[in-house]
Amino acid sequence: RVVVVGSANVDLVVDVPRHPGGGETILGGDLRRNPGGKGANQAVGAARAGGADTTFVGALGHDDAADLLLSSLDRGGVRTDLVERVDVSTGTALITVSPDGENAIVVAPGANSHVTIGAAQAERIAAADVVLAQLEIPLDVVRAAAAARRPGALMVLNAAPSRGLPDDVWDTIDVLVVNEHEAADLAGVLRAGASPGDAGSADSLDNDGAPGAPGPEEARAHENDPSGLASLLLLRVPAVVVTLGGRGSLVAERLPGGKLLTDVSAIAVEAVDTTGAGDTFCGVLAAALARGADLPDAARLAAAAGALAVTRPGAQDAVPDAADVVALAHR
Ligand code: ADP
Repeated sequence: RVVVVGSANVDLVVDVPRHPGGGETILGGDLRRNPGGKGANQAVGAARAGGADTTFVGALGHDDAADLLLSSLDRGGVRTDLVERVDVSTGTALITVSPDGENAIVVAPGANSHVTIGAAQAERIAAADVVLAQLEIPLDVVRAAAAARRPGALMVLNAAPSRGLPDDVWDTIDVLVVNEHEAADLAGVLRAGASPGDAGSADSLDNDGAPGAPGPEEARAHENDPSGLASLLLLRVPAVVVTLGGRGSLVAERLPGGKLLTDVSAIAVEAVDTTGAGDTFCGVLAAALARGADLPDAARLAAAAGALAVTRPGAQDAVPDAADVVALAHR
């Protein structure tokens, strides 16, 4: 069982000849209203593409956008009985897309700022094998969700969008999932915050006896390649997945025998729209972990789901069926 704690947004998308500057008005194409938000996208990913019993914990307003999101979550097979309704507008993302495919985005968090973990939510979380959260909701909610886990349940944090994390939130993470940019941001914060005294945690990892496990100096030397970033993040969390778009992902784990890095290749597809690939990946990763898969195997299944997602437009609408994901992963 998976509980996804996070945001739900309606994405208002307009194609534009170019992004407007300050004080400027331009005409764009027809408005599209798509169900989105990292939390809701990942919940649909875990349920439809991952085949897991999935509950979404989030907050919606009393408006048309909420109806759009609820029906998309329902279609995706997500349990929505614990979604709170609040007297604030449903989260909205205003997105302009230029001809080269570049997005400019403004998010109005709205109801997402009012997600709470009450007794019913805590009870569902306590029954989950995996709790999956992102950073489009207040950090206090992430903390409360992590605290409600039963012992042994995994906390998977997709640290997106990028922001600094306080120590107590770092400490809750079992599996950190980040793309290359988020990995670089977090690694930068860790490097900046690392006092000489902090090297202790690095040493203890080094002393695990992993042959050739890089120490902090070596991690710094390769600081901006994915394995350098993952190695640095691994000083702070037991497992990291760095997603690399069409180049696949890198799984880094702290194991009793030392550090293990596993390259997971992407599956070559004709990319139509990469929106939601990362969210589908996270959802399927959580679903596979909930069934007891090890992290590299979970990432392989997630890669198949991410590949199928980029062959279709949209976010939640692009999430593939679990049978197609399994078929592609075992091809
Ligand atoms: P995000 O959207 O969070 O930046 P990524 O772009 O790294 O996430 O995508 C997540 C995963 O989805 C990748 O690790 C990969 O497995 C898969 N994926 C993304 N883009 C492609 C692509 N063009 N072709 C095949 N797989 C892709």
